[in-house]
Amino acid sequence: MCNSDHHGFTRRSFAGLALAGATSLALPRDAWAADTWRKEDVVLDALCLMCIDYRLPSASVSAFDNVAGGYPGPGPRKFDLVALAGASLAATSETTFLPSAAGFWQQFGAAWALHSVQKLIVLDHMECGAFNVQFNNGDKLPYDRELELHKQQMRRLKQILPQHARAVGAPETMPVEFWIYLTPDDVTHPPTHLDDI
Ligand SMILES: [Zn+2]
Repeated sequence: MCNSDHHGFTRRSFAGLALAGATSLALPRDAWAADTWRKEDVVLDALCLMCIDYRLPSASVSAFDNVAGGYPGPGPRKFDLVALAGASLAATSETTFLPSAAGFWQQFGAAWALHSVQKLIVLDHMECGAFNVQFNNGDKLPYDRELELHKQQMRRLKQILPQHARAVGAPETMPVEFWIYLTPDDVTHPPTHLDDI
């Protein structure tokens, strides 16, 4: 099997898996009920959402641990963490990554119910395979187009956050911050804060 066949197969399997997953979304109603979680005596600064990409786990956790200016913080032991392919896309997708969105919002409810998280911090990255799958049939998106799609998902996430917060009893005014790694192959550069979302 040549390389391109291999990649094509992988890509199609990925999309197929995601679609197959969409049919198994029916969770028991109780799984969503925030009041069934045992509340802990902990208040955390944030729930952080990042992509699964292999280049980024340690850099992303370091960025969340780093309270210096230009980093998202909120600092060590101050946040809960979710990693899902696409980050912002995993919270907003209504098609390919719909099961991820259901999973993310359940985790959001858990983070609120257990640890009263005060904020949502979303960390995307460029050259994201999940964006290629959702928006370009798995092929690499042009840089500017991909960046605009990240901002589009972030705006959408900000728009739907109040209704998801309300659903789990969290404040509808919960703040959200958006960050992105513009050069994921060189994570010595800190992520960029997108303050215009
Ligand atoms: Zn990614």
